[in-house]
Amino acid sequence: MSSVRTFMLTLSLPRKHGLSLLSPQSSSIGFRSFRRSYVAASSSAFANENREFVIVGGGNAAGYAARTFVEHDMANGRLCIVSKEAYAPYERPALTKGYLFPLDKKPARLPGFHTCVGSGGERQTPDWYKEKGIEMFYEDPVTGIDIEKQTLRTNSGKQLKYGSLIIATGCTASRFPDKIGGNLSGVHYVRDVADADSLISSLEKARKVVVVGGGYIGMEIAAAAVGWKLDTTIIFPEKHLLPRLFTPSLSKRYEELYQENGVKFLKGASIKNLEAGSGGRIAAVKLEDGSAIEADTVIIGIGAKPAVGPFERLGLNTNVGGIQVDGQFRTSAPGIFAIGDVAAFPLKMYDRVARVEHVDHARRSAQHCIKALLSAQTRMYDYLPYFYSRVFEYEGSPRKVWWQFYGDNVGETVEIGNFDPKIATFWVDSGKLKGVLLESGSTEEFELLPKLARSRPSVDKAKLQNASSVEEALNIARTSLQV
Ligand SMILES: Cc1cc2nc3c(=O)[nH]c(=O)nc-3n(C[C@H](O)[C@H](O)[C@H](O)COP(=O)(O)OP(=O)(O)OC[C@H]3O[C@@H](n4cnc5c(N)ncnc54)[C@H](O)[C@@H]3O)c2cc1C
Repeated sequence: MSSVRTFMLTLSLPRKHGLSLLSPQSSSIGFRSFRRSYVAASSSAFANENREFVIVGGGNAAGYAARTFVEHDMANGRLCIVSKEAYAPYERPALTKGYLFPLDKKPARLPGFHTCVGSGGERQTPDWYKEKGIEMFYEDPVTGIDIEKQTLRTNSGKQLKYGSLIIATGCTASRFPDKIGGNLSGVHYVRDVADADSLISSLEKARKVVVVGGGYIGMEIAAAAVGWKLDTTIIFPEKHLLPRLFTPSLSKRYEELYQENGVKFLKGASIKNLEAGSGGRIAAVKLEDGSAIEADTVIIGIGAKPAVGPFERLGLNTNVGGIQVDGQFRTSAPGIFAIGDVAAFPLKMYDRVARVEHVDHARRSAQHCIKALLSAQTRMYDYLPYFYSRVFEYEGSPRKVWWQFYGDNVGETVEIGNFDPKIATFWVDSGKLKGVLLESGSTEEFELLPKLARSRPSVDKAKLQNASSVEEALNIARTSLQV
């Protein structure tokens, strides 16, 4: 039996709300009736410590969850969001994209990118939450939970009793240890607006920038730094950029483009420590081979860890990290859910448990979880992995880059196109098309990708290989879909 199935079977039986605040009588009646009896029963206490629904975390998933509560007319006076940040939920990917545009190229700033603008939704400013009757606690992280008493404790000492709890705490950026200079002035990690603002104040006076990490955060920050016309070097231990997804040949194309834009590469390099200058600020990055690179600003993009504290007791997944949930985002404790980056969930399509640190999953998991919580929906989450990035998009950039990937990057690859500007990579496994990445496609072409990755059609690999253009290759794939 797969680990997913074992887990799902050991979960408690579904309790729509897991509300010990409910009287036994009201739990057996329809949800609307419950709502009335709840408010009537607890109206005096509601204003202080009892809350019907509490979301912990004020990020991407929280913003989309709030919208879903509003759509079900279940937010007003019932929903509370407790956030560590000083801002209402926003579309986090903007932080290493529009937010880092050079200051004279109209960089993105709040309130411009509050959720849910990233998917064409309403811009949920702090006033929006007020208007919808959603209680917001900013800059007050949750520090403790009493699962039996259904109570949260916050940093400022608040005690919040919840009916249902949704954990949406996301991830924290992985750091270099302090003893090797990970906390020096001028060393940055980008996870939230405060981090991005601090980086911008460094970039304003920077001359030499070193970006550590060749994943998508490192790639986006390096592209941003050369937009500021700064001497920029990207360092990573692997052989090529984004090795978790890109093939060596695809990476080569992007690396060449980065080099044309002025980014220098140090591949296969390991860092020994970050060294301070006389004023205590970062001055150099020392490598294991004894060499050093001068730097007044260093940005570390080496991954992230799920922000599980103080919720470890709910059950963590030891393989992928994060809080283990089932296909409706229920944790092992009745009435407690986890969504977004922090959730280890059954990835139904590939029959494995996964944690996905991407905004599309944050949005969809939030919507799925809240719908399941508030309605009769019993469908299990069936996610199709989707990643994207966009770089060099500032005004005056010689070439904008925008790629999307859908599916699973398993099997052999077929690459078509000359990256001028288009290129496509198809992952073919046992004769089936499993994944596809497309750079600079049209809207219609990008819309085809999820259909292909979802259906996993049989495809003639030789025919694909012989395609003379990306358009022709996509047509071959489209035809295999119809077959
Ligand atoms: C710089 C950057 C760029 C990205 N770019 C892309 C991209 O191009 N494409 C893509 O698909 N994905 C991208 N991502 C990933 C995407 O942003 C995340 O997958 C998404 O934000 C996850 O949503 P979430 O709500 O689970 O977590 P988050 O959005 O991280 O929100 C978590 C929130 O919880 C708060 N919190 C944590 N602990 C507590 C606590 N104890 N109490 C209260 N609050 C707490 C945090 O402060 C934060 O506000 C990027 C991420 C970053 C950091």
